[in-house]
Amino acid sequence: MQEKGTISIHTENIFPIIKKFLYSDTEIFLRELVSNAVDATQKIKRLALLGQYNGELGDLRVEIAFDEKAKTITISDNGLGMTAEEIKKYINQIAFSGATEFMEKFKEAKDANEIIGRFGLGFYSAFMVADKVEIQTLSYQDGAEPAHWICDGSTEFEISEGSLEERGTEITLHINAESEEFLSKHRLQEILDKYCRFLPVPIIFGKKTDSVEDGVDEEGKPKYTDVEVDNVINDTNPIWTKAPAELKDEDYLAFYKELYPFSEDPLFWIHLNVDYPFNLTGVLYFPKLKKDFEIQRNKIKLFSRQVFITDEVKDIVPEFLMLLHGVIDSPDIPLNVSRSFLQADSNVKKINSYITKKVADKLAELFKNDRKAYEDKWTDIGLFVKYGMVSEDKFYDKAKDFVLLTNTAKENFTLNEYKDKVEAVQTDKDGQLVYIYTNDPSKQDAFIQSANRKGYDVLLMDSPIDTHFVSHLEQKLEKTSLKRVDADVADKLIKKDDALAHVLTEEEATKVKAIFDKAINRPAYKVELESLNPDELPVTVTMDEFMRRMKDMAAMGGGMGFYGSMPDNYKVVVNGNHKLVSRILQDENEEVQSQLAKQAFDLALLSQGLLTGADLTEFVNRSVNLI
Ligand code: ADP
Ligand code: MG
Repeated sequence: MQEKGTISIHTENIFPIIKKFLYSDTEIFLRELVSNAVDATQKIKRLALLGQYNGELGDLRVEIAFDEKAKTITISDNGLGMTAEEIKKYINQIAFSGATEFMEKFKEAKDANEIIGRFGLGFYSAFMVADKVEIQTLSYQDGAEPAHWICDGSTEFEISEGSLEERGTEITLHINAESEEFLSKHRLQEILDKYCRFLPVPIIFGKKTDSVEDGVDEEGKPKYTDVEVDNVINDTNPIWTKAPAELKDEDYLAFYKELYPFSEDPLFWIHLNVDYPFNLTGVLYFPKLKKDFEIQRNKIKLFSRQVFITDEVKDIVPEFLMLLHGVIDSPDIPLNVSRSFLQADSNVKKINSYITKKVADKLAELFKNDRKAYEDKWTDIGLFVKYGMVSEDKFYDKAKDFVLLTNTAKENFTLNEYKDKVEAVQTDKDGQLVYIYTNDPSKQDAFIQSANRKGYDVLLMDSPIDTHFVSHLEQKLEKTSLKRVDADVADKLIKKDDALAHVLTEEEATKVKAIFDKAINRPAYKVELESLNPDELPVTVTMDEFMRRMKDMAAMGGGMGFYGSMPDNYKVVVNGNHKLVSRILQDENEEVQSQLAKQAFDLALLSQGLLTGADLTEFVNRSVNLI
């Protein structure tokens, strides 16, 4: 029996097109062929379970071998096999209606995964690396005859009697000249490690099936090019496929080490396991964060029934959880659609909120069960939590009970605890609660000390997310505003009724203002006279909270371009009640007055790290003269 036929697609030769467009991703041919082989073993297993196959199952497995001399790669399995009719049906009739549609569609496709999935080209990806492909197969069905199919990459194929004696399928790729890199143990091992590490049946790599190198050895046994026989390269039962109850902490930690050999132990993990309304398993780890967040992104691996797909999970995992590590496995994530479709997919949306909920529940549990341990991890967890609260309302609603605010004394409070702590002292005359924060405790130390002297607590908001978090908290918390500690002098940060009386007369005040205006003489610095506590500094330089925030947002590209282009504007607050001010007034010498004013102003700048360059040099020289 021999039959020739034409593969039913309406183009002369589709394979050069496939090759050309999928070139960058050619290595996935192995993933596709091994997946098919694995599917075949899973199918025979199911048939046996259903009682539709009563023969021996044997040890189900997939073998990959290569022969450098013959330039072949062989993928064989003892799955269900195919009859000649089935080859015609499943292999020859490529699952798309025609070359026109294909030509139309691949233009939009961004990567090979899209094309291969959408057009059912899994098997045909073999032609990316081979100029001839052979199938030897024997179906499990009673009385089935072995079949042999051969195709040279044109639309012509040949089907004839095969030579397999055992149930299963063997695919032989005659590797083309451009793809000889794949005829290397190292290269194949690398691809198998990437895609096949957790496949559900043993994958054996290195065993030669037919091809014998140089005849026989001394004992008369065939000599193989590669001596490593029965080298199983995969873990068929990775932890995410097991029930959480079966697993110990060590198992999770060991798996983490297996995935990321060079990483420190993770802080904790979440085992995902749902069947309905979508199927999703996986383990997500919270890593110890390093300074460089970007390097830590894209560490979650996406699998579909234990076949590795990608570590680009951007649209499946909520953005704020992209720093997590681990594995998710779901056959319900569509792989063959574009990114924008993926975001709109209802399963993906459900998976997204499921993961968000699981993470929130886990954090709530840690917080509740061991507050101390939770606080110890807060530096690492805090970033996720704040990012999540800012970006997802649903997460905010859960996290508001376990987010921690840390003050400059390194004490942690929940939102409610903090409110209770500061309410009495930090409520202004209109009943508005004012939270005070610093984003740079060393630079703003003088302000922090002044605020503390007034009995105000100062929160530490110095992580990259805090600029957003501060604005977000302000929107969410009732009758509460947040002010950076240097937004005003301590006496004015929280508006109270108990304003201090002026020591200076109006006339004196005008005079002092004039002296400072003249001495400073810079348009960006606006002098104002205030009657503050005599113990406060004589001069303080502040920037309005609103203005500063707008500028911060603009700097981060928050669409506040207008504010970004505004020059910095500072307020120079002169403490009319300070002794130095009285002294300046008393001094008759204008030169001395100006020197003292300049000195006091420079000291204010200095304490905030704003005094640099020539101004700093001038300050040092003047100080030397003064002593
Ligand atoms: P898909 O796997 O998405 O169905 P493929 O192009 O990868 O598309 O494979 C087409 C079909 O060929 C499979 O559905 C299966 O019926 C058949 N097939 C491919 N490889 C094997 C194999 N090793 N054993 C049995 N059947 C196979
Ligand atoms: Mg397939």
